[in-house]
Amino acid sequence: RQLGVALVGLGKYSTGQLAPALQQTRLCKLAGIVTGTPAKAARWQQQYRLPEQNIYDYKTFDRIADNPAIDIIYIVLPVGLHAEYVERAARAGKHVICEKPMAPTAADCRRMLAAMQKSGKKFSIGYRLHFEPHHREMMRLGQQKVLGPIKSLVADNGFRFNNDTPWRVDKELAGGGPLMDMGIYCVQGVVYTKGELPVSVTAKLAPNPDPKGLFREVEAGVSWQMQFGDGSVADCRTSYAENLSSRLRAETTTDWMELEPAFGYGGIAGRSSQGAMSLQNVPQQARQLDDFADCILNDKPTRVPGEMGLRDVQLLQAIYRAAETGRKVSTKDVVAVLDEV
Ligand code: NAD
Repeated sequence: RQLGVALVGLGKYSTGQLAPALQQTRLCKLAGIVTGTPAKAARWQQQYRLPEQNIYDYKTFDRIADNPAIDIIYIVLPVGLHAEYVERAARAGKHVICEKPMAPTAADCRRMLAAMQKSGKKFSIGYRLHFEPHHREMMRLGQQKVLGPIKSLVADNGFRFNNDTPWRVDKELAGGGPLMDMGIYCVQGVVYTKGELPVSVTAKLAPNPDPKGLFREVEAGVSWQMQFGDGSVADCRTSYAENLSSRLRAETTTDWMELEPAFGYGGIAGRSSQGAMSLQNVPQQARQLDDFADCILNDKPTRVPGEMGLRDVQLLQAIYRAAETGRKVSTKDVVAVLDEV
């Protein structure tokens, strides 16, 4: 039997990516929805032929505990709501996937982890790129030092935000600005390519073009550096005020490797000093979802556990602290979790 997935929050990502992906998966399928909008419920029910008893709103959500057709709950809500819904999903006794970033604060993440530990069910973060061949290749080249040890990295990811999803600039609902939403891909890419956590970070906020309006509550952009124990560094940038190239690059003494575009789902391209990476673009979300289902069916650990979500929130918080204080911030308290090839 294919495991049943319920999507919680039917916004752009659920509608445009996850529901279509769940039509391509082998080990799981779209079985239910949780939405506060009755018109969406009706539309989805018809489009995906969902039985009435698998449709929930935010009030009836907890009754999902009694529904054997739902094995996995996928939280696709604004970041500030992730903790509450992961805790409720844990109490319902279901396996859980939570979108990135895990939550606004490390304290939220720890609450979520405790709830999932208590339930004993599997828990992962929606880090789709761990299931993408070009990113796996960057991990292999970097972690196995195929072209020599990495001396420096660069990662950029940002776009001009048009307020189509206003929660993204609401501090409480988003936890922060582009660093939380887009910069997290740079942090992830750097850490899994280098195969190590940084020992410290420094950071600087970008000029804010609209401090009384759009960027009243969150930063408009950040540039930061992650410093590693061997003296190598990663220079990163994110923004909601300008379109940045989507790029991940690493250099060794003699060679280099890079992805550009790096972080989207519309087609990733990679090359190194040895030539082009001739790898396929795959349906990332379908791969991610099938991998999680496989972990449940065969009782294997996920490569992208909740602890990795906590790790990244801790790193993002260190970057914010470095930007606020203008000082170098140590990352010695960050939990050590790595996806090793
Ligand atoms: P969205 O605004 O399009 O969707 C959010 C959904 O939450 C909407 O359906 C909205 O109705 C619902 N919602 C419920 N309570 C709400 C409230 N109080 N305020 C606002 N909305 C509320 O956003 P999205 O782009 O679909 O993002 C949703 C989640 O998915 C976020 O965690 C985001 O970071 C993540 N995401 C991940 C990826 C990825 O590639 N992994 C891509 C896009 C978004």
